[in-house]
Amino acid sequence: MSVNCPYCSDSSSAGSETRTVIRFGSFVRKSDGVRVPRYRCRRCKCSFSAATLDVCVHQNKRQVNDPVRDLLCSNVSQRRIAKIIKIDRKTVVRKLLFLATQAEQRLEAINSSTAKPDKVMFDDLITIEHTKCKPLAVTVIVQDKTRRILGLEVAKIPASGKLAAVARTKYGHRKDERRASRARLFTRLQATVAERAVIKTDQEPHYPACVQKFFPNCEHRTYAGAKSAVVGQGELKRKVHDPLFSINHTLAMLRANINRLNRRTWCTTKRPDRLRAHLLVYAVYHNDELLKKPVN
Ligand SMILES: [Zn+2]
Repeated sequence: MSVNCPYCSDSSSAGSETRTVIRFGSFVRKSDGVRVPRYRCRRCKCSFSAATLDVCVHQNKRQVNDPVRDLLCSNVSQRRIAKIIKIDRKTVVRKLLFLATQAEQRLEAINSSTAKPDKVMFDDLITIEHTKCKPLAVTVIVQDKTRRILGLEVAKIPASGKLAAVARTKYGHRKDERRASRARLFTRLQATVAERAVIKTDQEPHYPACVQKFFPNCEHRTYAGAKSAVVGQGELKRKVHDPLFSINHTLAMLRANINRLNRRTWCTTKRPDRLRAHLLVYAVYHNDELLKKPVN
């Protein structure tokens, strides 16, 4: 039996000839009617079930985890998900947070187990927190060609242009957190990106110093951004050849598949941390379900 005791987990039981963990009956779980086996540890005399070891332990609605994830990544709002699946909207929020924790772990595991990408691109997607006076910047880094999302981070930024003065009077000074958030993201990804990778970005003035600091051996190539489209998805530009296609297409997919990032929507982000959670859930869904599987 490959089950290890969760209470005395330093487990010398695995290889020994006398089994320390034995079967101990079973029970039928009320929420989904599944029969769950119970076990007993002969060493510490504790009993536990297969559910104790499950990531969904203590969840009453584990059967909605997958549908909630699919809908969150298919341009459906949280309130509409609650209506469709017939659960409370607070349950949807709870599921979002659970799925985000799982997604962040999966993203990290995949990044450390797959080959290091030698061509990556990153850019910022601008969205808002409740009002246009409180903009947010989402830095997304993707692998070139495959469009696999490697990581992302959300930062508060001050309003610019005509709204800057209005925003200051209404909401006071708003700190620009972009530098710190990019530092967090790139520190995490230093081990993921190949040592001498090519990093492609647009000509945003802050990028060169940032790349130089976190990826000193990488080659940084910048490209002039095309004029953004008047209608439709701003990230998708009508050009013959877009050298930043992978990142632009990915950002357009974020806009199309995450309800709160739609353009001209009345569904907006109220909390930046929840936006981050939603984006993480989407990133894993994007990598696992939406991208073409590599042909082996
Ligand atoms: Zn034990």
